[in-house]
Amino acid sequence: MTRSIVVTGGGTGIGRATAARFAAAGESVTILGRRADVLARAAEQLGATAVVCDVSDPDALTAALGQLPAQVDVLVNNAGGNTDLRRPAATTLADVAAGWRANLDANLLSAVLTTTLLADRLQPGGTVVGIGSIAASRGSGGGSYGATKAALATWNIDLAGQLGPRDITANVVSCGYIAETEFFADQLTEQRRGTLIGQTSTGRAGTPDDVAALVEYLASPGARHITAQVININGGAFPTR
Ligand code: NDP
Repeated sequence: MTRSIVVTGGGTGIGRATAARFAAAGESVTILGRRADVLARAAEQLGATAVVCDVSDPDALTAALGQLPAQVDVLVNNAGGNTDLRRPAATTLADVAAGWRANLDANLLSAVLTTTLLADRLQPGGTVVGIGSIAASRGSGGGSYGATKAALATWNIDLAGQLGPRDITANVVSCGYIAETEFFADQLTEQRRGTLIGQTSTGRAGTPDDVAALVEYLASPGARHITAQVININGGAFPTR
């Protein structure tokens, strides 16, 4: 039977690769994102449905509900990123507050709100997967990003407890450095990229499809006893700075 898959941030990077895997398997895929053009292009290429929506905005999500599937088997809370990389350095306390709120919105509230909105539509045998980060355990260079991803992982434990009786699993896939995405914008120097790759045992960056394959497994029948977990995918990157 065709399953219904919802991927937030499905227009680029890890979300797009995840949507592509499920679409290639013949599933019905809905992708969400803020940029209509990016989303429409991905949806057309993948044969998915595009829903333009800021998933950290409760009003926008509520307005989008009618465009979302009536039943959801797999929800991938992938939308997010380190908003510090796109902001000027904080010089006032107000800047600090704005930066923290932006990362909390992007990485924690986005997942909480999307899951809450769709909770009644999640189907038995289904799964919720959050995309976390190695920064949750080793920090993110002084910013708030790592803390917000840690919060995502802690919230997931409660989510798994709530959904378990309905035969729905919930896990977080915690990524190390994944190349070929828009995550770092233009902030990643070759030296830093070399450092990140040098921290792995595999000697390479992860790809979006590496992550997508793990998400696909977590949504498969063989993974039904895996829930409330953080599963690392980082090429063996040693979790220090
Ligand atoms: P991308 O920037 O390519 O993907 C992020 C996607 O999320 C974009 O398509 C963006 O689209 C969408 N998005 C962001 N905020 C919102 C929002 N509020 N509402 C709707 N859509 C949103 O980077 P990645 O693929 O790398 O990132 C995917 C996830 O992986 C993120 O959660 C990130 O934190 C995590 N991650 C990535 C790592 C890496 O090294 N790449 C490492 C660890 C974790 P749009 O701007 O159009 O809304």
